[in-house]
Parts: sequence; C-alpha cells; structure tokens
Amino acid sequence: MLDSELPVTALEELVASYLTTIDQASGAPFPRDVHAQLWDAMGAVFASWDNSRALRYRRMQGIDDGMGTACTVQAMVFGNTGPRSGSGVAFTRNPSSGDKTLYGEFLPNAQGEDVVSGIRTPVALTADAEAPGKEGSSLESSMPEAFEAISEYCASLESHFGDMQDIEFTVEDGRPYLLQTRTAKRTAHAAVRVAVDMVSEGVLSKKQALLRVDARSLEQLLQARLPAASELTTRGIEPLAIGLPASPGAASGRIVFDPDDAVRWVAEGQDVILVRQETSADDIHGMKVAKGVLTATGGMTSHAAVVARGLGKCCVVGCGQLRIDPRARTVRLDDSPSSEPLHEGDLLTLDGSRGKVYTGALDVVASPTVDELRELMAWADQIRRMRVYAEADTPQTARAALSYGAEGVGLCRTERMFFAQDRLFAMRCALIATEDEQRAHWLSDLERAQQDDFIEIFGAMDGRPVTIRLLDRALEEFLPQDEESLRAIANALELELEEVTEAAERHRESNPAFGHRGVRAGLTIPGLYDMQLRAMLLAARHCADRGVPVELEVLIPMVAFASEVERLCAVLNAVHERVFPEPTSLFSCRVGAMIELPRACLIAGALARHTHFFSFGGNDLTQTTLGMSRADASRFLPIYLSDLRMVARDPFTHLDERVAELMAMALKRGKAVRPDLLAGLCGDQGGSPASIEICERLGLDFISTPLSQLPVARLAAAQACLRQKGG
Ligand code: PEP
Ligand code: MG
Repeated sequence: MLDSELPVTALEELVASYLTTIDQASGAPFPRDVHAQLWDAMGAVFASWDNSRALRYRRMQGIDDGMGTACTVQAMVFGNTGPRSGSGVAFTRNPSSGDKTLYGEFLPNAQGEDVVSGIRTPVALTADAEAPGKEGSSLESSMPEAFEAISEYCASLESHFGDMQDIEFTVEDGRPYLLQTRTAKRTAHAAVRVAVDMVSEGVLSKKQALLRVDARSLEQLLQARLPAASELTTRGIEPLAIGLPASPGAASGRIVFDPDDAVRWVAEGQDVILVRQETSADDIHGMKVAKGVLTATGGMTSHAAVVARGLGKCCVVGCGQLRIDPRARTVRLDDSPSSEPLHEGDLLTLDGSRGKVYTGALDVVASPTVDELRELMAWADQIRRMRVYAEADTPQTARAALSYGAEGVGLCRTERMFFAQDRLFAMRCALIATEDEQRAHWLSDLERAQQDDFIEIFGAMDGRPVTIRLLDRALEEFLPQDEESLRAIANALELELEEVTEAAERHRESNPAFGHRGVRAGLTIPGLYDMQLRAMLLAARHCADRGVPVELEVLIPMVAFASEVERLCAVLNAVHERVFPEPTSLFSCRVGAMIELPRACLIAGALARHTHFFSFGGNDLTQTTLGMSRADASRFLPIYLSDLRMVARDPFTHLDERVAELMAMALKRGKAVRPDLLAGLCGDQGGSPASIEICERLGLDFISTPLSQLPVARLAAAQACLRQKGG
C-alpha cells in the first residue's frame, strides 16, 4: 500500500505515535497552539544555521558564518488532495548537460517533502523523458494544462533572474502553485554551456556570463590528452604495452611502486605514475597524489579503475604484459625476458583514454571536454588585466602550458631539474666535493643538462617571458642517507666513505626551511649560481643565434638583504657581457626578487633599485609571516579551521589579508623607487580565485599558477577584473 492510500484510522494511529515520540524526545508535549507551532518552526529554521551539516557546507563553500539565514512564512497548498494533485521539482535546463529542455520530477498525490525523501518513485515531468513502460505517466501527459502553466512560469522566472532556476511546485486539484525558486546547482559542464548559450540567446552579456561560472570547476573540464595515434606513429612512437582504458586523460611521471613513495616523491616536486599489481583501499593516498595509475590486473570496475575515475586520474588497468618485481623495484612491459626492465624513477606515459603505455615523457595537450569552454576562455582572456603564467620546470610542461593558455613561464624551479638520477648524482658530488676543481667538474655536467632544458623551454615559449628561478631548496634534501649511494659518491670523488658521510652530515640542518637555501646557498657555494646563470644565458644565446627570441627573467629566491641582489646582479652582468658582447633585439633579460620574507617587504624600495620585477612567493611569505611551517601546518590547521573555527580559510590556499597588506606595502615602497616595477604572485595560491581577487585589488601585473589551474586562473582573473570595475 502506498502512503497516499492509508485509511483515516491508520493516519490517526500514525499521528498519535508521532506525538508520543515527540513528547519523549523533547520532554514536552507537542504545542497545540498554532502560534506556538509557528514560532517553534521558525526557531528551528534559525537554529539549523548552526548544525554541523550547515557548518561543514559553509566551510566547503567558503561562506561566512556571520551571514545568517532567513525564514519565509507562507500559506500552505496541498499536493496530497487526490489524483489531480501532486508536488514536483523543475529545472529550467538540464543540470547535467546544460541542454535547454525542462527537466525534473513529479510525484502525484504527494507533498514536496515526499519527493525529496524518496518514499515513492516520482514520474518524469515531460513526455519525452517518460521511462519505458511508464508511457503517459508524466505531468505533461497526465495534466497538460498544469504542465503548460509551469513551463511558462519556468521560462519567465529564468529570464527574470537571467539564470537557470531550480523550482519547487505543487499542483492542488489541477491548479499549479510555485513554492520557491532558486539558482540551480549544475555540473561544471552544464555551467559553461548554459552561460555561453544564454549569451547567444541574448539573455546575458558576455561579462555576465563570465561571472556565472564557478572558476574552480574548470579544472574538471580540461583533460590532458596525447596527440593522435597516427601522429605518434609518424614520429616513431609506439606503445610498449596496452591495457584497459579505465579512466581518461594522459599523464607522464616517474615510476613508483609504493603509495608511500608516491607521496614522498610528490612532496619533493616530482610527478609520479603509481605502478601496482592491483590497488586496494590502502593505496588511496598514493593514488591521490599520482598523476596516473597503472595496474597489471583488474578490469574496468576494479578498485583502481573506480577510484581513479572518482579522483579524475588517468588510469590504465589490466595490463597483462606488466611483470612487476617489487624487490628489485623494476617492471618489464613486454613478455620477453630479454627486454630491459624499467626502474623506479624512470619516466612513463599513460594514455588512459586508449589504455596505452609508453616509455619516456610524451607531450600532452589540454583538450576541453565541452566545446563552449574555448569560447568562454576567449572572452575571459579579452577581459582580464593580469597576465597568467604557468609554473613549468620541464620543456614538456612548458609545451603543455601553452595548450592550457599560459602567456609565459612564471616560475621555473630549477632545483627540480636536478631530480633525474644522473643529475641528482652530479648535484650530490658537487655539494660534497672537497676540491674546487672537482666541484667545477660536476657543476659543468649540470650546466650542460640545464642549458639543454633551457634551450627547449625557450624554444617552446618562442619569445614569451620565461622566469627562471635560481636554485632554492634546502641542500640537505639533495643528499642521500643510504650507504650504497654514499659509497657511489665516494668512488666518484675518490674519497673515503667516512669523509663523504661526514660531509653529507655537515649539510644537515635543524630548520632547513630557514637554513642554507635560496640566495644564501647561491652566494656561499662557489660556482653554483654562476653555473646556472651561464646555463641560462648560453641557452638564450643559442636560441637567439637561431632566430628564436628569448625574454628571460631571472628570479632570485629568499632575498632578505638588498646587498644579496646587488651582488648577484654584478655576477649576472659579468656573464651577460661575456655571452652577449653585442646587444640583440632577440634577447632581453630582466632581474626580479622573490618577495618571500617580511624583511623583503620592508626593504622593497632598496630591492627595486636593483630589480625590474617582484614575484611574491605566496607559500613562503605566508609561512614566514604567520610563523607557520608549511610542511607541518596540516597537524593543526584542520582543527583550527573546523573544530576551533580560529580561521575561516587555509592561508596556504587563500592569501591571508595580513599577508596581502605586507604585499601592498612592498608594492608601494617598490613603485616609489621604480614606478614601472612589475609585480606578480607565484606559488600555490596563484590558482585560487579568492587569492586572485586580492591580486587584482592590489594591482599586480601577473599571476603564476600550476599547470592544471591555468584555466581556473584565467577565468578568475577576468572575474576579479569585472568585480573590481563593478565595485
Ligand atoms: C613560494 O614560496 O610561494 C614559491 C613559489 O616558492 P616555493 O614554493 O618553491 O618555495
Ligand atoms: Mg618559496
């Protein structure tokens, strides 16, 4: 029997049992006075603002706790008076696809609450959405006049609000009533389509459409992909193995076999591909951080496949040719025992859309999953004032960044270029060498490698700005702990193992984040920064000689004193004069200071005397202003955010207003000395719309953002610009 078919006696029993339950639970009888009932009901609405579900939702959506809620009191209509009554929900467009068709559900002889609670299965709103076997059941078929009226209300509400609506309605004895309307929630896909369609329908202007889309959602709508298989074949690139295309997209990274290693390597700035026989719930932390997942066994609904799709990660499963040797940390990709195995740390590329596995790092390009996205991004690019650059440390990322719409490279972290096994070894030898000559030998190996990478990056960017940051990493992070690696260094440097172990120990620091890093390391380790500056300028020379324009921006990290910048500028000028004795229109070079310390903000005027631009390092400036280690904040910040409600937002994701105040001061002092000083933000906040809004307010010239956040940043920069203009 359906709830709507209960006889009066059953309903009386039900009401009596509800009353008893309420009495027992609340300790007071249910109020009989209608005014008391109304006041209690309103009290419940206001109290709901502070329940834990609402709190969690506000945290997620960044809604201010102080806003409060409202309560509307309205006359009741009844959808449960018989077969010519009912309640329903209508979306003015399809909230998944954005299609311009009415979409929703209707529950005959029911109240609105019954639709939401799911006690009965509703019918479709429109005749064309009727399920097989349920022909004639929709509201359109069963009550055409009511449907017609609701369709008209939907159209006028949508054009009145200029946005897609989610409407609740009741039909009482054939007469339709609207209970509420609100802006409809929609998928990112639908949001972009609806915004672009509404511009062609003349409902919205382009500017209004840009403000309609949640910038954060764009990340889901761009998928990395490999070039067409035919193009790869022409270039002689063939897959080494083929499995099942479990989750679309493409990704390159270094092979890791263990989820804990994946987390560690990613924290060190590496992209990784997690290679497993099959994944389980214990692997999720590794899957989350990996760029892609590859398994030997499992099908399209295996754990790896399901989780990867949920995480939006590219994934290939059931690749039967994989032979993983977990002890040796190797994997063979074909059946032949004579084939060379791949080792942990080797590069691998996955094509999750076609299930193909390639060795090495293949180029990927961004491809929109919704056609209208291209149009929306073009409007955003016309509107925004700030330039949007990408963080890129490899030629491959630099090339991919262009397809994501980057206008240049805003941050190339050169220390990350030392991660490949051979380069890491050279770096270790250079750091541990006791003789100048030996150090110079290993540094020259690194110089060649960096120069090659810079040539490729400059070539890819073809005259767009490329900001290269001099090495900035705690030196101890380069050094090995295991005896095997120390022994290899001892052999290469012809030293005793003890000497190498001691030298490695000497680099250990109790607080590496504030220790021997950045410009301090560059000025105290002979030859290190000279090598990097030579590599950049020689690469630029190589390009310019071949007609490729280069706009180089050299960035000095962790600056605390103007004298550090002054000293480095002298070194740079000397190298510049040697490499480019004659000026060329194909090459320009600017110097910038990374503003990551409160002291750097204070001396911004002095820094501007020696530099052309500032790049605010939001990660470190937050860490040093708040005295909050970015590596350890996760121990207490979540509690501060949710339980104690000490802070409204994670300052490492959203620029803190006090940090922004320091930036404003630095800008003012810098521009007082050099009015044409350029300034931007780099670091993880560069991809957060709330931080981008602050950057626009401060009048910054650029933001630099991780690759996957580029479309987010392009739209957020346009939105910030529009909001600021509109006051
Ligand atoms: C920063 O501090 O914001 C920054 C970009 O540098 P890194 O994250 O490499 O320290
Ligand atoms: Mg930094």
